[in-house]
Amino acid sequence: MTGLVTKILKFSLVDGPGNRTVIFLQGCNMVCLNCHNPHTINRCRHCGECVSLCPNKALALHGGEGEGAKGSGQEVIHLANRCRDCDLCVASCPHNSTPKARLMDVSEVLAIIKQTSPFIAGITVSGGECTTQAEFVRELFTQVKAETNLNTFIDSNGNTDPKAWDRLMPVTDGVMLDCKAWDPDTHRLLTGSDIQAIKTSIIHLVSLDKLYEVRHLVIPGFTDDETHLRSMVAFLAATNPQIRLVLQRFRNHGVRGPLAGHPSPSQELMLRFAQVAREARLREIRIR
Ligand code: SF4
Ligand code: SF4
Repeated sequence: MTGLVTKILKFSLVDGPGNRTVIFLQGCNMVCLNCHNPHTINRCRHCGECVSLCPNKALALHGGEGEGAKGSGQEVIHLANRCRDCDLCVASCPHNSTPKARLMDVSEVLAIIKQTSPFIAGITVSGGECTTQAEFVRELFTQVKAETNLNTFIDSNGNTDPKAWDRLMPVTDGVMLDCKAWDPDTHRLLTGSDIQAIKTSIIHLVSLDKLYEVRHLVIPGFTDDETHLRSMVAFLAATNPQIRLVLQRFRNHGVRGPLAGHPSPSQELMLRFAQVAREARLREIRIR
């Protein structure tokens, strides 16, 4: 089985417990204004617009109506041996994609994981939204469980059907779930999606004892309303007071569109929000 992989980061200390190998999958079911990796949102359309921009001739256009022509049937090929990872192609893509994502077999990803396994606690699959490739994740986690002692985590936006969670959870140790906003209108504005699916995921994952943490993003002017925060932490505490909450500062690194250059929240605001969360008696609150 193959998955469309954007990147594999061999070591990370910020994507779950301990040192981890992180597999980023291409494609998302949200279009967040705050996205740090907007090039992971869509699959490549093979439009060919990035090909001539590569200074190292690491992109080639095959098929269609002829070499270099745009149109149906053509395919953009990434020649990894020539690529210098300057990311000019990524920055210039008008479709929030990358020509560098590639189809990888489970066995190929597993071989990379086995190289890093002596040095890591586990693996995390992220995105994009990795649950849009749920069957690939399930097969990868199954193989990791069968052949290593590593734990398996998912980093998700929560916009996932309970049936997909049910397929994944027998081979998943924990889920880190992002909550971009609690107010329904703000959530739709920021993500293009309804908040209800995220609430449903939280309840479902708690019922399966698989919710490792909820990450709430604090964006000045969007999610800095204390009323909405109080409503969210009350919901989390009522669902399970053991939920670990991470209050995540918005940072504009990599962000495109209207939030490019948008300021981060002040330390004072983050501390005030942490105090509000503490009053709801959640077990653990962190600021990141
Ligand atoms: S990465 Fe973007 S610009 Fe390049 S071929 Fe794909 S869709 Fe077109
Ligand atoms: S990242 Fe690689 S493929 Fe993209 S423009 Fe740079 S050298 Fe070319």
